[in-house]
Amino acid sequence: MKVISDEIGAQIGNSSWIRRMFDAGAELKQKFGADKVFDFSLGNPDLPPPPAAREALHAIADTLGQPRALGYVGNAGWMPFRETLASRLAKEQGVQELSAKHVLVSCGAAGAITSFFRAVLNPGDEVICPSPYFVEYASYCGHFGGVLKPVPSKQPSFDLDLDAIAEAVTDRTRVVMFNSPNNPAGCIYSEQTLEALAALVAAKNAGRERPIFILSDEPYRFLAYDGATVPPVLPRSPFAVVLGSFSKSLSMAGERVGYLAINPAMPDADKFMAAVTITTRTLGFVNAPIIGQRLANAIIDSGVDLEIYARRRRLMMDVLDGAGLSYSVPRGAFYFFPAVPGGDDVKFVGHLLSENILAVPGSGFGCKGFMRLSFSVEDDVIARSADGFKRAVATYRG
Ligand code: PLP
Repeated sequence: MKVISDEIGAQIGNSSWIRRMFDAGAELKQKFGADKVFDFSLGNPDLPPPPAAREALHAIADTLGQPRALGYVGNAGWMPFRETLASRLAKEQGVQELSAKHVLVSCGAAGAITSFFRAVLNPGDEVICPSPYFVEYASYCGHFGGVLKPVPSKQPSFDLDLDAIAEAVTDRTRVVMFNSPNNPAGCIYSEQTLEALAALVAAKNAGRERPIFILSDEPYRFLAYDGATVPPVLPRSPFAVVLGSFSKSLSMAGERVGYLAINPAMPDADKFMAAVTITTRTLGFVNAPIIGQRLANAIIDSGVDLEIYARRRRLMMDVLDGAGLSYSVPRGAFYFFPAVPGGDDVKFVGHLLSENILAVPGSGFGCKGFMRLSFSVEDDVIARSADGFKRAVATYRG
């Protein structure tokens, strides 16, 4: 009997590498005990939310006697929070005209991407994205008949290959999307790169009835190392759309609060915002969680302790250097994406399991020959994994 759709059946069959490693990790933890397993597979932030969250939640609790204190709010978000976001994004993106009407509050960055795709894609439309890429993008656009077209990034910098992107554009291209700082590669695209991408899209958009959008997925904007900055894309194209969330910056991933914002110069901007507002409603999100919106609104200027991530990045470099693995130092986000010895990522990640080390093969991000290691794990786990990495590399190379 077929109780589910063919498409979702296939998705379950091809369950993501992250999911598979999650299952493998659960089995290892059961067998050896959690402290004997070195799990670098997950992007679920382990830092507590900033201390200001506690006070803000108490203040929210004090308002619960009011009518509809936890009731529905507008599909585009709770207005005071949209206003806060608008003034923050206006500064961050360098677009002074940005106001609340250009901002949608979403159920995380994931919800923003999904509402966006539902609003702009026709079946068969293509979404160009550099690889490696966040593994869920293909499903997010596939739900609405969109087709993800990955374009390999340059090596070893993982910078955008603009010539290859230009070549990948067809009559069906609807979106060019990217993620900076990048999960999993840790790179940040420079101003020059974004400028050139915007020029490329502007040239391709000339005379087109259905424009190509530039979609920038930025949940790691807050996390750049060694004084690096993340250049904005919004002012560079009227068809630029930016989105992000507070999952990582405030360590509130389970509370599902994110946003989407557009360049106010977008032609038919009101129509676009009406579209993402209605898709947020009809996809069943209705509105982002109201406790989360009020919490994020109250503590938006605070953040998790970035020094902890910076310290872990250094620790992880020591571990990888000690094992003789080669990698580009991540400039942002909390992942390393080293090349695997011998080039077979699935095989090497399988071998790491014999040392109770969990990583995700690059194949899961559309980029064979690499593996992703998240350093959103305790310092102690990173330090204690050093011998296992060394042994795994030594025995693998024989
Ligand atoms: N985009 C990227 C690149 C991510 O890494 C993630 C989560 O890890 C998301 C989007 C979705 O994040 P959220 O929906 O929790 O904001």
